[in-house]
Amino acid sequence: MSHPTHPIIKNGIDEVLSDTHFPILNDSEILVTGGAGFLGSWLCDIMLEAGANITCVDNFSTGLNAHISHLSKNENFKGLTMDVSRELDLETRFKYILNLASIASPDAYQKFPTETLLTNSLGTLNLLEKARKDDATLLITSTSEIYGDAQIIPTPEDYWGYVNPVGIRSPYDVSKRFSEALTVAYHRQYGLDTRIVRIFNTYGPRLRADGIYGRAVSRFLSQAIQGEDLTVYGDGSQTRSFTYVTDTTRGILDTLTQKQASGEIINIGNPDETTILELADIIKNLTDTPSKITFHPLPQDDPRRRRPDITKAKNILKWEPQVTLIDGLKRTISWLRRTENVDYESKT
Ligand code: NAD
Ligand code: UDP
Repeated sequence: MSHPTHPIIKNGIDEVLSDTHFPILNDSEILVTGGAGFLGSWLCDIMLEAGANITCVDNFSTGLNAHISHLSKNENFKGLTMDVSRELDLETRFKYILNLASIASPDAYQKFPTETLLTNSLGTLNLLEKARKDDATLLITSTSEIYGDAQIIPTPEDYWGYVNPVGIRSPYDVSKRFSEALTVAYHRQYGLDTRIVRIFNTYGPRLRADGIYGRAVSRFLSQAIQGEDLTVYGDGSQTRSFTYVTDTTRGILDTLTQKQASGEIINIGNPDETTILELADIIKNLTDTPSKITFHPLPQDDPRRRRPDITKAKNILKWEPQVTLIDGLKRTISWLRRTENVDYESKT
């Protein structure tokens, strides 16, 4: 079996699997949509290592072949180029379906609002139908973004959200809300085994830093390593709760595999809240860069604070994050420093 070569990723996979081996996944047919993306490719790696047969579907709108090319010779892995918002042509009968297909970075979903809305609506519908036909368990990756500019911090799952329905972030948050509502409808009406995770800002190796795909963590890290200024929006007092990829993927797999998570909606995120200016300062210190911090206009509707209440994840899944921000950033820096010459624009 081929392995992802970078030790930071290899160790991360082992870490997720050492917690629980997810024996239930062994020999299972599993569909991962958005499998060439950041979280999707980590999940493909982890579940293959747990003995699963993986079909990865992606349209490569934001994902990269570089994230999955090491799996091409693995006989338990099949990669298909397909748009989930169009008719799905999949013969295999799946036991589990994980839907990660979505444009996820703010600049990208604002540039491609229609594609984002259709992926999370029609794409979710197509996958719900496939799950119904196969009698599969379907996991949907929703987001903290559905809470909008949350008025309750830390935010529990029963908070309804404070969202601008036609704002510039609406292609993402409104379609994710619709995706959740449709998934819950299939659970109630057809008894489908569904699970929804609301993921909070996750970072780590393979999170893109380039152009419209960059997120705060990956952009700041890449700027710091290249000696460019760190571009803080607004005064940097807005907060996020950053979660390292091994914690998020373990939370996703706990939700997928634990019976008591059926029909549930669960926050997966690190409750440690950090301002964006603090994040920039930490990254400056960890990378020992001469880069300066520069301030730029705060984008419209940028949520002021974001921090999960993870009581439900702790109670239902016995899940909580294990990797601190400093540790996760150090790991990501180590990965980035060894992959400086990766051509992020390459789709081949
Ligand atoms: P990503 O952009 O790296 O991965 C998403 C993948 O979906 C990409 O490979 C992209 O090419 C693919 N895709 C997009 N539209 C598609 C379509 N119509 N058909 C097939 N494939 C399509 O993003 P990610 O960070 O890995 O996010 C994965 C999922 O988790 C997304 O649903 C996202 O909304 C959700 N999420 C992520 C975070 C985070 O912090 N990373 C936070 C909250 C929610
Ligand atoms: N941000 C920033 N500089 C950047 C990119 C993002 O200050 O170059 C801010 C952004 O305004 C937001 C936070 O960092 O307040 C997180 O942004 P990201 O795009 O990572 O994710 P979001 O949580 O907004 O979806």
